[in-house]
Amino acid sequence: MALERTLSIIKPDAVAKNVIGEIYARFEKAGLKVIAAKQKQLSRAEAEGFYAVHKERPFFKALVEFMISGPVMIQVLQGENAVLKHRELMGATNPKEAAPGTIRADFADSIDANAVHGSDAVGTAAVEIAYFFAATEIHSR
Ligand code: GDP
Ligand code: MG
Repeated sequence: MALERTLSIIKPDAVAKNVIGEIYARFEKAGLKVIAAKQKQLSRAEAEGFYAVHKERPFFKALVEFMISGPVMIQVLQGENAVLKHRELMGATNPKEAAPGTIRADFADSIDANAVHGSDAVGTAAVEIAYFFAATEIHSR
């Protein structure tokens, strides 16, 4: 097992549903620590840059519009196997396919508005963390 960091975003739909605390509780119960956090209204350019890997996909414009439709809550999670553990807590991208008890099964309405983002690998996590947080904003403990 490896101590890892991953980037989590609670998307505008879940922020609007007022379930930031419920989602944080799931992270903490799974042994993931919030070591940095900020609530932010993303600009269009920030959302496009964050999801640049998807820019040729047919859903890119809808994804960007959704991500700027309201504030998001962005955090760095640290723990053993944090990347995979977090993806397991999130559930499948399409909430209709997400396992019962996962964040997306419980809080997401559709594949467009699917409540949370999580990095998919240690390498992409490092890039995504640096996209939103300076080293001085991360409090490893
Ligand atoms: P994730 O890592 O599980 O978030 O999924 P991806 O990295 O594949 O896609 C990023 C985000 O784009 C997803 O969380 C969805 O919000 C959105 N998305 C992915 N695939 C589709 C799709 O087929 N249709 C639509 N409308 N949105 C999608
Ligand atoms: Mg992804």
